[in-house]
Amino acid sequence: MADPLSADRLLAALRTEGLTVVEVGNWRTHNRNHKGSWGPVHGVMIHHTVTKGTTSTVRICRDGYSGLPGPLCHGVIAKDGSVHLISAGRANHAGLGDGDVLRAVIAERELPADNEANTDGNRHFYGFECENLGDGKDPWPAVQLEAIERVSAAICRAHGWNERSVIGHLEWQPGKVDPRGFSMDTMRGRIRRRLAGAPAPVPTPPKEDNVMEPVEVWAYRNKRADEASVARGDGRIPDAYGYLVQTHSLARALIAKADARPAVDLSGEQLTALANAVAAHPALADQIAERVAEKIAARLAN
Ligand SMILES: [Zn+2]
Repeated sequence: MADPLSADRLLAALRTEGLTVVEVGNWRTHNRNHKGSWGPVHGVMIHHTVTKGTTSTVRICRDGYSGLPGPLCHGVIAKDGSVHLISAGRANHAGLGDGDVLRAVIAERELPADNEANTDGNRHFYGFECENLGDGKDPWPAVQLEAIERVSAAICRAHGWNERSVIGHLEWQPGKVDPRGFSMDTMRGRIRRRLAGAPAPVPTPPKEDNVMEPVEVWAYRNKRADEASVARGDGRIPDAYGYLVQTHSLARALIAKADARPAVDLSGEQLTALANAVAAHPALADQIAERVAEKIAARLAN
């Protein structure tokens, strides 16, 4: 027994899972609750749209068409992995399906074959329409499959469900073939593995090697980020991004050298000895210069 997520909670769950979410018009109140119950909710249903082009796909899923009024889902998962929120209430996506399947989803056990159409799925399932022609040839980009995985995981996490609460339309309603082009068992495996970890809002770079990481991340998030700006043919650095990246590379190289060398603590006496040594062996000056550079790098890092 689970009450449906409010619009705010649905949005927050998706964003926390690292998804790019687009709020479409009055999605919070665009629903079919006047035509039937919404909830208790028991699972997530994945569909393909048999459409091409995100703008028209989103429009159709919002407005519906003659004979099937919108909203046709809760969200559209586009080819670029973005999620377009269409509704936070009852939507026309699941139709009548097999009550035995619903009971299996509630119990999170293996699904029986769907051979009946006796149960209102729109009441009990969140529905996500995925932009794809559904002809078995239209490719499923990796970012789109990952978005399907993340959307499903986000909702499962919010309700405390596992991956068995996620089904394809083809597992619900006799005669349906969607989604076509990947297997729901494979997708459930991905969702299971994702649920085993924490939500991953943004890809996080490895941390331990690099105290300058925040600067690098900032530079990349800056919309002017452009690999070509790091160095032009004439060796000049044309903008702040290029400057930061080069400064960062230099500092990282210096820090790596510092880590590779034993620590030296100079007392006054040692310093005098060192000065004498440098006088006798000028190559030592290079090593001292490195040491100074290390100090500068450490200050930059702070
Ligand atoms: Zn469908």
